[in-house]
Amino acid sequence: MTGVGNRRRVTDYLCIGCPLGCRLEVETEGDDIVEVRGNQCRKGEKFARQEHLDPKRMVATTVAIAGATITRLPVHTAEPVPKDLVRTVCDALHRLVLEAPVAMGQVVLADVLGTGVDVVASRTLARSDDKRLLPDAG
Ligand code: SF4
Repeated sequence: MTGVGNRRRVTDYLCIGCPLGCRLEVETEGDDIVEVRGNQCRKGEKFARQEHLDPKRMVATTVAIAGATITRLPVHTAEPVPKDLVRTVCDALHRLVLEAPVAMGQVVLADVLGTGVDVVASRTLARSDDKRLLPDAG
C-alpha cells in the first residue's frame, strides 16, 4: 500500500479471476473508491471492488464420513464466505462427522456460521455395504 497525497490512498491486489493474474490498484479517497487500475476486463474491476470492500473466498475441504469406502468426503461452500471466516468455517467442518450415503450437491451443513451459505458435498459416496451404488458394481 502506498500513500498518495493527504487523503488519497492506493491499495494493491492480485486478481484471481483468471490465470493472467493482473496486478490491480484501488485508489480511494476516504471511504470512496475513485478508480480501479490494472484490470484487463470488467471481472477484474468487480473483483478489486469486492476485495477492497468485502473480501470473500470459496472454501473447499474434506469432512469425516462413516459407513463409506473412504473416510473423508470432499465438500465446498455453495458460495464464497467472508475471507476472515474461512479458518472458522474449516474448523467447524473438521468437527463434523457425516454418515453415508451422501449425494453430490447435498447440503451437509446449512447456513454455516450464520453466513447464509450452505456447504455441499463435492461427490457422491455410497454406503460401503450397498454394492449397487459402488462405482465398480457390475
Ligand atoms: S483482470 Fe481480468 S484478465 Fe486480469 S486476471 Fe483478472 S479476470 Fe483475468
